[in-house]
Amino acid sequence: MPEKDKKVTPPAPSEPIRGVKASVETDSMIERRNTEPATPPVRERRKYKVSETPPPPAPPPKLNDYASIIGQPEIDEIRYIARLLRGKTVKMVNSTAVGGGVAEILNRLIPLMQELEVQTKWEVITGGNDFFEVTKGFHNALHGGDYHPTKEIFDIFLMYNEQNRQRMEFVEDIFVIHDPQPAALIRSKERNRGKWIWRCHIDLSNPHREVWNFLKPFIEQYDATIFSSPAFTRQLSVPQYLFYPSIDPLSEKNKDLDESYVQKVCDDFGIDRSRPVITQISRFDRLKDPVGVIQAYKLAKKYVDCQLVLAGGGASDDPEGAVVLAEVMNEAGDDPDVIILNLPPWSALEINALQRASTIVIQKSLKEGFGLTVTEALWKRKTVIAGAVGGIPTQVIHKLTGVLVHSVEGCAYQIRYLLTHPDFAAQLGRHGHEHSKENFLLTSNVKRWLILYQQMLGLNKPVKVT
Ligand code: UDP
Repeated sequence: MPEKDKKVTPPAPSEPIRGVKASVETDSMIERRNTEPATPPVRERRKYKVSETPPPPAPPPKLNDYASIIGQPEIDEIRYIARLLRGKTVKMVNSTAVGGGVAEILNRLIPLMQELEVQTKWEVITGGNDFFEVTKGFHNALHGGDYHPTKEIFDIFLMYNEQNRQRMEFVEDIFVIHDPQPAALIRSKERNRGKWIWRCHIDLSNPHREVWNFLKPFIEQYDATIFSSPAFTRQLSVPQYLFYPSIDPLSEKNKDLDESYVQKVCDDFGIDRSRPVITQISRFDRLKDPVGVIQAYKLAKKYVDCQLVLAGGGASDDPEGAVVLAEVMNEAGDDPDVIILNLPPWSALEINALQRASTIVIQKSLKEGFGLTVTEALWKRKTVIAGAVGGIPTQVIHKLTGVLVHSVEGCAYQIRYLLTHPDFAAQLGRHGHEHSKENFLLTSNVKRWLILYQQMLGLNKPVKVT
């Protein structure tokens, strides 16, 4: 952290807004919200422009392009570590090519691995709606939600995994299987010579017992597992590694933008930059608590002027998005200062601009694996208010790199406090940037993967000193 940023600042008080009863969101409230089937009627809202076709993909950056951010010695080190792995082959498998943090990471990681001549292939498992209903149920259950699995549910999971296993070839040196959806592909292990790694991106600290007991025998067949936080690990008979997820500072989502482009995006979406802008970018998922964000905004708005932007989209492995979007629209009512954007998957530049145009970025998740949206905001020096769940506290160190909240009222309080203490808010943003640069950039992630691959393939033997 730069010395100049270390000045003493008043701490953000932690009582709720005056006149609002302090209440912590209880498990039963969360559960109710997570299980209620209601699909409220969707109200008409202001129209906004989105690009209807994906722009041509930008060429991926080269490793040397990162030298201006992390320094040439770091780049040289990565190349040095990769040299032993030249020609080795890796297959990564997940459950969606677009939407969500895993797809975001793989899109950026794989071109760099290719440049380093570690031949990395990315495959996506396929399945019917029934499969993705089941895996979404598993996802919520593994995050501690209520769930009633049946034999039929487990059979659907196994059937689609088996179909994908038959369809895919497993000839690489290393297989990296992301998250629970494709976890049963491990059944192919006995037929090949490769090493198998299970990369878990979700918070397993309090998993649904039956679902976890069903998955665990598969996970224990892997040669190694990777988690995003020490708190997410389970008792397992196989080695466990800690990898932070990462963002690419040179991607469309995170690269520096011209101010004129940021302004254009705000104009297209009807955002008034002369007033504070509070933003949450997330899939429309109850665990991201978009409805709670609107409630917090409404409470804060009694004291401070602001607009709320809720921008999200769907992921192909998430069937609940439309229902949650309808709930969000309903909660927003006809408040013109709540701007709800359902964005297509090719909106990285627009999301980048929205984050940059924000006075505060919120990620009020009730459960979270890591929360790449938080990393993206920290990188952009934004003041972040985020739920104290999952991997978020690794990123948001309370009152140093952002603030953590536990309730709607706490979130409202912090919106009000930070909008009225801009110097402190800006300092959180500066520290957040340093923290993200130090810990959560793609280049550190590449290095970790390379070292793990070396270890798995028995290539990093100790050097003999003669
Ligand atoms: N994201 C996006 N479009 C959206 C919503 C989210 O591109 O409409 C991106 C977001 O910028 C971030 C990722 O998807 O890079 C979400 O990752 P995160 O870890 O925050 O949550 P997940 O969706 O994986 O639970």
